[in-house]
Amino acid sequence: MQAAYYQTSHTRGPTAMPNESTATLRKRRDALLRKLPPLKAILRGSLIERFKRCGKPGCKCADGPGHGPKYYLSVSYPGLRPQMDYVPQESHDQVAEFVANYQRAREILEEVSEINHELLRRREEL
Ligand SMILES: [Zn+2]
Repeated sequence: MQAAYYQTSHTRGPTAMPNESTATLRKRRDALLRKLPPLKAILRGSLIERFKRCGKPGCKCADGPGHGPKYYLSVSYPGLRPQMDYVPQESHDQVAEFVANYQRAREILEEVSEINHELLRRREEL
């Protein structure tokens, strides 16, 4: 029988925390959770900047990087090509914030999980 629990991919190894007391770990866990961004304000993906040359004869863009920047949200899915969606200029700041929130939330969850993992190893109450 195989349990199909979801596990995020994680490239680093287990976090060593031998010098931290159990009380310190619990305090750190509380502090991390207080720093969680609002979870409705998250977006997984990366914000990409593009410049494009229009190709019109005589356009000044031929000498520079092109018209832009224009922004796209690139979202990857396993086994598929990343999906690119246009981000209007007026949404740029909010999308950038949501993307950063997602990264931060993910880091925090990973750290909290590692603390719980360590507590489990120590046979401490979770
Ligand atoms: Zn042009």
